[in-house]
Amino acid sequence: MTEKLYYTDGECRAFSARVISCKPENGVYAVTLDRTAIFPGGGGQEADSGSLNGMPVIGLRESEETIYHILPEPLEPGSAVDGTVDWALRFPRMQGHSGEHIFSGTVHRLCGGENVGFHMGEGGMTLDFSVELSPEDIARCEREANRAVCADLPVRTLLPSAEELEKLEYRSKKELTGLVRIVEIPGVDKCACCAPHVARTGEIGVIKALDSMRHRGGTRVTLVCGEAAYRDYAALHANNARVSVALSAKRLETAEYLARYMRESEEKHAEITALKREILALKAANLPQTEGNLCLFEPGLDAVTLRELVNAGVEKCSGICAAFSGTDGDYRYVIGSRSVDLRAAAREINDAISGRGGGSSAMIQGSCRSARAEIEAYFAQK
Ligand SMILES: [Zn+2]
Repeated sequence: MTEKLYYTDGECRAFSARVISCKPENGVYAVTLDRTAIFPGGGGQEADSGSLNGMPVIGLRESEETIYHILPEPLEPGSAVDGTVDWALRFPRMQGHSGEHIFSGTVHRLCGGENVGFHMGEGGMTLDFSVELSPEDIARCEREANRAVCADLPVRTLLPSAEELEKLEYRSKKELTGLVRIVEIPGVDKCACCAPHVARTGEIGVIKALDSMRHRGGTRVTLVCGEAAYRDYAALHANNARVSVALSAKRLETAEYLARYMRESEEKHAEITALKREILALKAANLPQTEGNLCLFEPGLDAVTLRELVNAGVEKCSGICAAFSGTDGDYRYVIGSRSVDLRAAAREINDAISGRGGGSSAMIQGSCRSARAEIEAYFAQK
């Protein structure tokens, strides 16, 4: 059994210990110590990086309360070692994990939901709750959780006996056996957990829910804390600053300005569409009376307008009126005729213009990959 220094002191980043055993294992060595501050992972938190006597610990595993440090070189059983924990990795993880306890404990207290899943990743942590949480619920829990951070409460470790444990009320994701460690934040949360935590809630800095979604009958919340929350804020601020400059809007009024900009843009779009239709109506009226086929190219037309053009075109030609919109080699088409059965001719036309599509005997529509010159040549000779 290894004494887990991180159980009672999550801030311990350098420690001395004694080597208990060292066994070769597939070209590396599995070393056990009387005590360690290097966390082997668990409870949703990843394993630490660290070193023993300056040698990097290249792997960690835990079996029956004993922690195995995997090293590239052996250590002498009975000898003393100095260990370190990679603090730059560990501290933000503790901020996140302790923040998760506060948020989950707060959801439990205010909304009655259990935390049934927890994952720590690059883009933040995901917390799965057993109940549906509205955005207002989440905002309320977030506010309350940040109050607990500002109160700078102690984060305590309890190692209760079996009898004491029976009397304790605490959160846990599963039935636990053996030594159970409880992490307590007074008035906020009591939860069974094996991972290292910050000593005081103030170290978490800030707790922010980024988003939420329905998940297996409950809610999945993405949460960031501490350094991760600061990085997120900085990125969000930089992004908003660009939007602010582009819209000439004050930094907290970008959404309002953007909504107005979108409205204006939609109005302009509607105006442009109306103008396009007007131009098209003029063009259609001026189409020459044609013997045979009429082949038209009009970039930037929507499907409806393209159909209107063809409807006008079939009146002006004795054969097929084919209209294309898009860019060379990537066209949408509408083809109409009053004399040719297009349902029957669709396959031949599609083969000729590398197209796909279909429709009725009077009109077919689809897309094609041929170039304009090929399309024009086909309808000219047909
Ligand atoms: Zn935990």
